[in-house]
Amino acid sequence: MSPINRRIVLASRPQGAVTADHFRLEQAPLAGLAEGRIRVRNLYLSIDPYMRGRMNDAKSYAQPVALGDVMIGATVGEVVESKHPNFAVGDKVTGMFGWQDYGTSDGAGVRKLDDTNVPLTAYLGAAGMPGVTAWYGLNKIIAPRSGQTVVVSAASGAVGSVVGQLAKLAGCRAVGIAGGTEKCRYVVEELGFDACVDYKAGNLFGDLKAATPDGVDGYFENVGGEVLDATLSRMNPFGRIALCGMIASYDGQPLPLKQPSILLTMRLLVQGFIVSEHLEYWPEALGTLATLVAGGTLRYRESIVDGLEHAPDALIGLLHGKNFGKQLVKIG
Ligand code: NDP
Repeated sequence: MSPINRRIVLASRPQGAVTADHFRLEQAPLAGLAEGRIRVRNLYLSIDPYMRGRMNDAKSYAQPVALGDVMIGATVGEVVESKHPNFAVGDKVTGMFGWQDYGTSDGAGVRKLDDTNVPLTAYLGAAGMPGVTAWYGLNKIIAPRSGQTVVVSAASGAVGSVVGQLAKLAGCRAVGIAGGTEKCRYVVEELGFDACVDYKAGNLFGDLKAATPDGVDGYFENVGGEVLDATLSRMNPFGRIALCGMIASYDGQPLPLKQPSILLTMRLLVQGFIVSEHLEYWPEALGTLATLVAGGTLRYRESIVDGLEHAPDALIGLLHGKNFGKQLVKIG
């Protein structure tokens, strides 16, 4: 009898916050594998904030997931069947195989992984897409010089943790903003940032001012809302803002800027970006990040939930800041 593939599909579109009812777990026997294709057993699924946007049927940079389709997602896994000349059974790979036990592919967009010195899961985090996002926004938009101050929000997370560590390696003062004392302690004591501001402690403007005595030259924005307002008020003339994410508004909350005139008076450069539109930089960035991870220079933390059936809860938790570091689901 064929093995069963479990998959989680989008059952309905959220209006506001995501709940478990927006997903449905389905099961079906695996179909035979066609010539020229591989079958991959997914071992870990990456849970990312962009998944919230794909649940909406709204104009954006990417197509939404269709109702009834398997939820989109990057995975790392192992080739269990191959009718493709470039892949062998046992190869470790990463690809966009989605929220399911098994995926098949003609090999396009599938990358072989070497897990000798870099753990497989890191290829979904610091040595994967989130790491490249940090690398691109920091190096290509903020382009900090040694001695400058770089601030990053969601600082303990998959992207933010890499931003601050790369900024430190570039000789900058790295200041994080994160939710809670535990996350802030980790950012400073374990990741080596110079300071971290707990935006939930009730004194965001004052605490950020104290942490950035020379102002802010580069801001890597992951959150939006009051965190963006507070950081804008600390920007130095000709500062650069890499607009990476605005997770505080992903459920549709309007988050107006309180002082947009700062953009003009400080002559700021604000550049939004989507990392998948800059594929020409990925080989360089992935190579650098993998080397840093393998050498223990680039540190990271993971929140791993066990079982595909818990993927919806993992996404809901991420959208409420319950993750601590890169959010993953262990499938295999
Ligand atoms: P994280 O690992 O940082 O997890 C998300 C974090 O966001 C939470 O842990 C929480 O941290 C914070 N958060 C969640 N909800 C809120 C809220 N309502 N207000 C303030 N903070 C909140 O996720 P990633 O590192 O994967 O992603 C970080 C950002 O980067 C996201 O905005 C994402 O969309 C964006 N991104 C953009 C890409 C691009 O190409 N532009 C590519 C990849 C990611 P805390 O507890 O500290 O508040």
